[in-house]
Amino acid sequence: MNKLNEFLGGRILNLKVLESDEVKHLLAIGSELKPGFFRKDQQDYCRRCLSKISDDSDYCRNCLNMGKITRDDQLIISSTETNFEFQERPMKWEGRLTQLQNKVSHELINAFKAHKDHLVWAVTGAGKTEMTFPLISEVIRSGKRIALCSPRVDVCVELFPRIKSAFPETTIGLYHGKSKEPYQITQIMIATTHQLIRFEKAFDVLIIDEVDSYPLAGNQMLQDAITKAVKDNGNIYYLSATPPKILLDKVEKKQLGISKLYQRFHGHPLPEPKCHLLYKSTNFLGVNPIIYLRIKKMLTNKQRFMMFFPNIPQMLQFENVIIKKFPKLKLISVSSKDDKRLEKVKSFRESEVQAIFTTTILERGVTFKNIIVIVIDADATEFSKTALIQIAGRAGRAADSYDDEVHFYYQNYNKQIKNACAEIKYLNWCAKNV
Ligand SMILES: [Zn+2]
Repeated sequence: MNKLNEFLGGRILNLKVLESDEVKHLLAIGSELKPGFFRKDQQDYCRRCLSKISDDSDYCRNCLNMGKITRDDQLIISSTETNFEFQERPMKWEGRLTQLQNKVSHELINAFKAHKDHLVWAVTGAGKTEMTFPLISEVIRSGKRIALCSPRVDVCVELFPRIKSAFPETTIGLYHGKSKEPYQITQIMIATTHQLIRFEKAFDVLIIDEVDSYPLAGNQMLQDAITKAVKDNGNIYYLSATPPKILLDKVEKKQLGISKLYQRFHGHPLPEPKCHLLYKSTNFLGVNPIIYLRIKKMLTNKQRFMMFFPNIPQMLQFENVIIKKFPKLKLISVSSKDDKRLEKVKSFRESEVQAIFTTTILERGVTFKNIIVIVIDADATEFSKTALIQIAGRAGRAADSYDDEVHFYYQNYNKQIKNACAEIKYLNWCAKNV
C-alpha cells in the first residue's frame, strides 16, 4: 500500500495490475470503477486513449505500450482530491519581466480566473517560460494542480531545472517515456503530452508548450489526451511561436483567447535568414565550395555554429567528409536516434566543441549563445515553413549576441523558404509597428 502515491491524482489504472487492498483503498477515497471500453454511435472506444477500437479487435492497439486494455478489463480512475501545503509566495524567481511580457502574464492570470482556454503566440526567444511563472505561482497559491507539457522530451528535460529553481518548495515531477522515476502525485507535473493519456480530469491547469510540433501536431489521440486530462472547470494554455491554423481558427471563433508577443525579451528583432542559391549539390566535389568556404571562415574566426540537415544519413555522410577536410574542427552530431543526445547538447552548450550537426530534432526548445545557424538543403521536404522559422529562431537569443547570423543553402528557392523568410520579416515589422 505504500505505492498509493503512484496511483493518485486522476490516473487511469487497469484493475488487474492492482492488489486487492489497493483497489479497496482507492475506491474508499472516491476513485471510480469504469469499463475499459465505452460505446458511442455503435462504435467501441478505449476509455484511456479515446481511440476507436477496430471491429476485429478485443483490445486497444493505440495505447498498447502503456499496458494492454481488453474489452473485459475494468479501469480505476483515481480520485483527484488533493491537499497541497499552502504557500503564500511560492515563486522564488527574482528575474524581471519586460513591460510586454508583463502584459501577457496578466492576460494568462485573467484566463485562469475566468476558466478560459488561451493561446500565447510569442516569437522564438520571447521568454515564454518566464511569462508563465506568475500564472504558475497563482495556481499554486490557490492550492490547485498544474501540468506543463510538451510533445518533445528535450523541452521537458530542459524545463525541469528552471521550474524547480523558480518554485523550490513545491512538489514537482518529471515524466516521459525514458524517465525511470515512478510517477508520484505532485502539484506541478512536467511531462511529455503522451503521458497525459494516463490521466482523466486530473489537472486544474494545463500548459502545452510547442503545441505545433511533432508528434502532437495532427495527432488526434494526443489532442484528445489533453482535453481529457483537464478538469471540467479547469483551463488549457497553448504556447507556440508558430501556432497551427486549427488554433488560430478557434481564436477567430472566440473559443480561445489570445496573447501575442512579437518582441524578443531583449527587444532586438529576429535575425532574418540570408539565402544562398547553390548551382551544384551540397556534396559537389565532396563539399560544395560555397559551403566549404563558409566553414573555413568560421573555423578561422573560431565562430561556433549549428548546422541543420534534412535527415540522418545525409548528416552523417556530410560529417564524415567534413572531419576529413577540417581535421582541426571540433564537431559533434546529434539526432533522434542518438542515446547520448542530451549529453552531447550539453557539451556544445558548454563550448567543449565548436560545431554541432543536427536534424530538426534541435529545431526548438534549445538555447545557445553566440552561434551561426546554417541550414543545408533548406529546400528539402523535411524543412517545413514552421521548421525553418523555429531553426532561424535558435540564433540571436542572448542580449549580447542578438544579431547572430542565419544562412539557408538550397538549390530551389521553394514556397517554404519564401514563406518562412516572409513571416520572420512580418513578425519583425509587427514588433516595431503593432
Ligand atoms: Zn487505448
